[in-house]
Amino acid sequence: MILLDSCPICKKKNLKKKLNCIDHSASNEEFTIVSCGTCDFVFTNPRPKDENLTHYYNSNNYISHANLSSGLFNWTYQRIRAFAIKLKISLLKSVSKKGHHLDIGCGTGEFLNACRNVGFNTQGIEPSDIARSQAINNYNLSVSKSTNLKQFNESQFDSISMWHVLEHIPNLNQMLADINRVLSKKGKLIIAVPNLKSWDARHYKEYWAAWDVPIHLWHFSKETLVKLLNKHGFKKVKQKAMIFDAFYVSALSEEYKNGSKNLIKSFAIGIISNLSGIFTKNGHSSTIYVFEKK
Ligand SMILES: [Zn+2]
Repeated sequence: MILLDSCPICKKKNLKKKLNCIDHSASNEEFTIVSCGTCDFVFTNPRPKDENLTHYYNSNNYISHANLSSGLFNWTYQRIRAFAIKLKISLLKSVSKKGHHLDIGCGTGEFLNACRNVGFNTQGIEPSDIARSQAINNYNLSVSKSTNLKQFNESQFDSISMWHVLEHIPNLNQMLADINRVLSKKGKLIIAVPNLKSWDARHYKEYWAAWDVPIHLWHFSKETLVKLLNKHGFKKVKQKAMIFDAFYVSALSEEYKNGSKNLIKSFAIGIISNLSGIFTKNGHSSTIYVFEKK
């Protein structure tokens, strides 16, 4: 295990325990989440060593990589995911010209394939062997295994996306510094992350599925994400709610808390969370942010 003794955003050693969470999807081990008393950044601490993290991904529940189609829940998940890809493409097209696009953590490649279909020149990164081979075999995409951006040239990409990926990246500051290097001067960086201030997060507390310890190493609010990106030379230019995530996360959270997805109840909680996202400053369950260089 690795214990961080200072905050990765502000470097202060003012860390306080926030809550304990169980890894419900793979190991059933308990992990502690801390918050920085100076800048409010929240992260899993201690966390497994980088080389041991893959062990915690070995779960049949990790359907974003596995493309399982059994059961109504997964069927609905797949249909919504197809629709969500269309929304992501229209967002990308609204902020970026059709140049070179890099998707970090591209999974099985559905989004990247859709990017290529609308005229982008595409490159993916996916460390999971199973997901990467599906992306390559199903769509003939260019996908590298290495997450080290030194493999790319300065200003090589006009747009970069990380869909629920930044919270998984161990070397957070190094990754963002490297992204700044490989992104063109007017390039756009799209980051989607769960929001720990959302209504569903506060309702489910330690059972909130998007804590997802220990594979979620970092837990963002809008404020801490923007602070981190500002530190790396980016400014926020746009944000968009991911309304489906509230339903998905609530169903998983119900399962962790009560042993069943309780689809009607979790649907109702998803509605409340989205209404709270619209009418309060708490924000939605997950949000997409678009950044550009300052
Ligand atoms: Zn801090």
